[in-house]
Amino acid sequence: MAVMAATLPLVTETSGGLRPPLAKPGILDVPTETLRVWLADRGQPPMRVNQIRRQVLANRATTFEEMSDLPKPLRAELAEAFSVFSTRVERHLIASDDTHKLVLRLADDRMIESVLIQDEGRATACISTQVGCGMGCVFCASGLNGVVRNLTSGEIVEQLVRLRNLVEFRIADFGLQIESQKTTGADSVNPQSAIRNPKSEMGRLTHIVVMGMGEPLANLENLLEALAVVGDKNGLGIGARHVTISTVGLPAKIRKLAESGKQYHLAVSLHAPNDELRTRIVPTNEKTGLDAILAAADEFFETTGRQVTYEYVVLGGLNDRPEHARQLAGLLAGRKAHVNLIPWNDVEGLPYRRPQDADLRNLIETLRKAGISVKVRKRKGSEIDAACGQLRRRAEQSSVISHQSSVISHQ
Ligand code: SF4
Repeated sequence: MAVMAATLPLVTETSGGLRPPLAKPGILDVPTETLRVWLADRGQPPMRVNQIRRQVLANRATTFEEMSDLPKPLRAELAEAFSVFSTRVERHLIASDDTHKLVLRLADDRMIESVLIQDEGRATACISTQVGCGMGCVFCASGLNGVVRNLTSGEIVEQLVRLRNLVEFRIADFGLQIESQKTTGADSVNPQSAIRNPKSEMGRLTHIVVMGMGEPLANLENLLEALAVVGDKNGLGIGARHVTISTVGLPAKIRKLAESGKQYHLAVSLHAPNDELRTRIVPTNEKTGLDAILAAADEFFETTGRQVTYEYVVLGGLNDRPEHARQLAGLLAGRKAHVNLIPWNDVEGLPYRRPQDADLRNLIETLRKAGISVKVRKRKGSEIDAACGQLRRRAEQSSVISHQSSVISHQ
């Protein structure tokens, strides 16, 4: 489910232009055993594997040269064989409220989007899991050309590392650190020493939402591998309870996620209260059907004890009629569920419109009367949902243009 917020006005833009694909593998995607053997061939102990990874994940190293706990000759050899990041920042947009949107160019020249949302002391990363998407939701640009491939676990981790590296130290983050240290009984943080140390001036990610490009559960194996890396204390230290995984609803994969034994939060993108309408909005519903999705979500709750969130993009006149409100309430009544209503904002070129306030109110009241917890998700810009994937498409189109110009200029 692509729900990446991009706040307007965007005040800064940097653009990378077309670059050749990277020839060297990104270090985060090199399997542990491969790296261990590569190091052993150079007379280096296995502990170097963790040292190198810790440098990128925890110490924010962006070059091998910065990894000062490694011997200098080894740093040079690493730089010759690998790159620290396999992605390049193609575009970096910064909104007035400090929301960052990155278009990343992958090693095979494909592009993905990742977003950092900073709000009320939280720094939330919204990440992609696939290039393109096979689900074809009618309001989403990410799925226009179908799915191209799954992202590797290293590419997923890299998005998080890149976004984390953008989070600046703020008093609000600092407050969170003090709070968490109090609860664990650790020594309190000394603000002066934190500020003196340049690394500690950087803030940290507090939450992850897997709601970017792609269907996360269609790439579950790589996603779980990536989340295990970032959840580790030597990684980014983001626990499962701070991670939300969104899906249009793949029942077998929902069960598999529940069986992982982790406390990830599941968000199911519903968008309609009956199969006929849902299949019009989320075409893959035709194969699956609401009953199977809700049954799997119920099992997820039973297994994990974690309440499931249902996302509902409210499309004016399409899924916000009184009968839809009643059907939705009927569908979810009696379930331990929370509903996020996401009012659509008009987007040029798409035939959907913003819901009327009265229709939105009716949806909220009908759900609440049925005992269902409901929230209208705070909008951070008019591009929500449909914007996901559009920036990437624009970046790809401008790359094609610049590539063609360079071909012409070389003739
Ligand atoms: S097509 Fe649907 S599932 Fe895929 S990224 Fe877009 S909104 Fe998410």
